Amino acid sequence: MNCFRFAPILILAAGTALAQAPAATGASKPMPPVVVKSFDLAAIDKTADPCTDFYQYACGNWIKSNPIPGDQTRWARSFSLVQERNRYLLWEELNAAASNPTTPLQKQFGNYFAACMDTDLVEKKGLKPIEPDFKRIAELKDTHKLANLMGELEAEGSPAPLFNFGVEQDDKDSSKQIAGIFQGGLSLPDRDYYIVDSKRFQEIRKQYVDHVTKMFTLAGDTPEQAAKEAAAVMEIETALAKVSTSRTDLREPANRYHIYTVADFQKLTPDFDYLVYFKDVKIRSFETLNVATPDFFKGLSELIAKEPIESWRSYFRWHVLHSAASNLPKAFFDESFSFFGKTLAGQKEPTPRWKQCSSMTDRALGEAVGQDWVKNNFPPAAKASMDKLVAALEKSLGDDIKTLPWMSDATKKAAEEKLGMIRNKIGYPEKWRDYSKLKVERDDLIGNLERNNVFERNYNLNKLGKPVDEKEWGMTPPTVNAYYNPSFNDINFPAGILQPPFFDFTIDPAVNFGGIGVVIGHEMTHGFDDEGSQYDGLGNLREWQTPEDRKAFTERTDCEVAEYGSFEAAPAHDGIPEQKLNGKLTLGENTADNGGLRIAYMALLDTLAAEGKTINDKIDGYTEAQRYFLGFAQVWCQNQTEQASRQAALVDPHSPGRWRVNGTVQNFDQFGKAFGCTQGQPMYPVKYCRVW
Ligand SMILES: [Zn+2]
Repeated sequence: MNCFRFAPILILAAGTALAQAPAATGASKPMPPVVVKSFDLAAIDKTADPCTDFYQYACGNWIKSNPIPGDQTRWARSFSLVQERNRYLLWEELNAAASNPTTPLQKQFGNYFAACMDTDLVEKKGLKPIEPDFKRIAELKDTHKLANLMGELEAEGSPAPLFNFGVEQDDKDSSKQIAGIFQGGLSLPDRDYYIVDSKRFQEIRKQYVDHVTKMFTLAGDTPEQAAKEAAAVMEIETALAKVSTSRTDLREPANRYHIYTVADFQKLTPDFDYLVYFKDVKIRSFETLNVATPDFFKGLSELIAKEPIESWRSYFRWHVLHSAASNLPKAFFDESFSFFGKTLAGQKEPTPRWKQCSSMTDRALGEAVGQDWVKNNFPPAAKASMDKLVAALEKSLGDDIKTLPWMSDATKKAAEEKLGMIRNKIGYPEKWRDYSKLKVERDDLIGNLERNNVFERNYNLNKLGKPVDEKEWGMTPPTVNAYYNPSFNDINFPAGILQPPFFDFTIDPAVNFGGIGVVIGHEMTHGFDDEGSQYDGLGNLREWQTPEDRKAFTERTDCEVAEYGSFEAAPAHDGIPEQKLNGKLTLGENTADNGGLRIAYMALLDTLAAEGKTINDKIDGYTEAQRYFLGFAQVWCQNQTEQASRQAALVDPHSPGRWRVNGTVQNFDQFGKAFGCTQGQPMYPVKYCRVW
């Protein structure tokens, strides 16, 4: 699903495929899914001391006996296994729809899936599906026409790489939908890959240029021509990286909110004709827009004036090739996997085609395939149970706010007001999207992708000036994730995550609260993290803390910045330096994890009390409190390739599993008490960080 929201929604976990690794062209056989236990005694490493390294204790045996499968870069006990299971169930549905559809919707998504699976046809068509784009790019004779080229490519659903344009909610008036424009233009995962002057990045840059050269050669250019084109691509992308705002700075809402009149924006960027571009992408006229990253657009304009026209042609051709690589003949596919999968992310084998096509169909027609998926995998009783759990967590966060030691009464009142206004969305949308205007052809894979891009683009651009649809979802039902959207002030839990081991009513409440309870608490706390706390209950960017409370809040978040910034993401070896986590980039997620663990624990205490039980009752040799922390930790057991760990440390706002567990439990004294730790041990420190 295309998402034109530039202010990011705050999700629970990054997707498994951090690098855009393409799928295998051969069809490997789908295997029935593994059922994941909610609580796994066998995962525990009893040789480890929970008070020294709780993650090792809770996950050690699982980590040892679950190496990363060849087609993955990260393998997580809960996330990956549920993702694999959900995708398998989706595949069954798509596969049946492809051969024997019984409804018009099934015919539509069945054909979408079938077109993706037909690799013989992909081979036979060769580069034909992207030739119209190549032809259009070859006709570019003058940099003044770049705006026309961008607009026309975009209007046809082809890759228009320079920047991202769409309609978003106004940060300061969430009831309004306005035009917004955001930096873009890069192929590597982050601007650091282009500009950091280290041996590792120099090597990656060299390999990237080799890869681009090979792709141009495969497309029919001479080696000399291809090398020249690749150098031009690298030069343009490096220049764009230099004027891009860092991910860390983009976390600050003020850094991505700059309202310009169209006329003033045009003055800032004289060498790209935005009026022509807006006309070509077919958006209604408007007078002001949010220029999220003005420095980028100023830099882009200067670059357009400077770079020769043939460099721009190379740059656009590259993006067409790169974007289509997974759906071109095997030679292109293999070359793209070799760099973006193997080299960048450490993935050994390509993702099987059936997995890639299932995910691709979900992204394009998620609320069509989701209807059957929900019927088969999300009973109404599950929704009712979730409503109860969410209410329990809301009460706990309210109690937590009331008793916070550092906040004034005035701010507490404002915080409670915001909490009371959070909307809950559980399972799937009340109203499904209408896909009847999306044309799908069984023998036209790239055409389907392009028509889907156009469909999503029109859907988004049509929102300009219209009222906000509060019932809209930003994730499809089979997704194993959850999110908080600060402009909506809502928490969203797709049916895909409301499955074991996250959500399991056959197990004791301690484990369930450690799983889905912490997930709910995490999303609620996002409303009150460094970023979410700057929005009010209506989703408007407005300060509701007193200056003293904001100062106290920042002192507390600074504590987490320093704490997580000291954690190691990847060790030093062979002349490659150690990679630490970025405490600022991961701050919001860490605050959400810490708040989630604390308030789900409070909700568990209430639930046990109502059942006449206590936190010290034992099951299978562990107290309820211990089972709660183990249930929580076992959600995050994971193995990850070193390349993916290093990449995630730069681009992923979530900490890796080890630190989501150890960083969080050492900030919550109930953990040390539950495991009988001595104060001063690593997981039970005397001084710790606490925000909420
Ligand atoms: Zn999150």
